[in-house]
Amino acid sequence: MTQSNIDVQAIPIFNDNYIWIIINVNAKTCVAVDPGDAAPLIAFLESQKLTLEAVLITHHHQDHTGGLDQLHKQISNLNVYGPELESIQGVTHPLEDQQVVKLAAIETVFTIMHTPGHTAGHICYYAEHLGESPSSDQQKPWLFCGDTLFSGGCGRLFEGTPAQMYSSLQRISGLPKNTNICCTHEYTLANLRFANLVDESNSSLKNYITKVENLRRDDQMSLPSNLALELEINPFLRANKPALIAAASRFKGEKLEAGVDTFAALRAWKDVS
Ligand SMILES: [Zn+2]
Repeated sequence: MTQSNIDVQAIPIFNDNYIWIIINVNAKTCVAVDPGDAAPLIAFLESQKLTLEAVLITHHHQDHTGGLDQLHKQISNLNVYGPELESIQGVTHPLEDQQVVKLAAIETVFTIMHTPGHTAGHICYYAEHLGESPSSDQQKPWLFCGDTLFSGGCGRLFEGTPAQMYSSLQRISGLPKNTNICCTHEYTLANLRFANLVDESNSSLKNYITKVENLRRDDQMSLPSNLALELEINPFLRANKPALIAAASRFKGEKLEAGVDTFAALRAWKDVS
């Protein structure tokens, strides 16, 4: 069987961020997603003897872009992709919704999804598979979704409306169920505590909480997640489920509709919980 030569790793930075690294194992080249800090990334490149060929940026927040200056200083002609709707110093290739980006260094084609809500211009990077000749395991699609979707949660609405975020998450929900989900933050356990509060009879959720508690106790990451799991356990993807509508209605003190009304109440509830 043909083996893929693509590997995905994550470098933990700050308190709870990850820099995702997509590595072409044969060519020793790689692409980094949301390098909020340059030093840990450069140390990783040196220790693994990898060449950084490109950077993907999801949105303008400093903890996703803070390393760009230093990376440009150290690596000449570095290609940096980012959202065209946000002004980000160091982005060389602005991208718009549905644009297709071919990254030869990792033999991968990404389709851009504009997913406003957390920020106005936020984009996600979707690939049907990583590498040209993927093994069966890596034929799964991958989504690098920044601060739009988290495992068990979603990003705060800093620049967008609930309707925008709901629509962005609905779009993600429509991707193939086996899509790997690479978010930027290790927020899973805190998200699941809230999820358990609003979806208390969900047995898949309880099983996942146990799994993540064990992982985190051993200091292991809970990511990547996958879409099938998120659809089962993530309250922000379940705003059409009777249990969530009932819980959100209790919080608001009025009977809410399925969909964006319920989503908006859940997001407001999470903000104060
Ligand atoms: Zn952010």
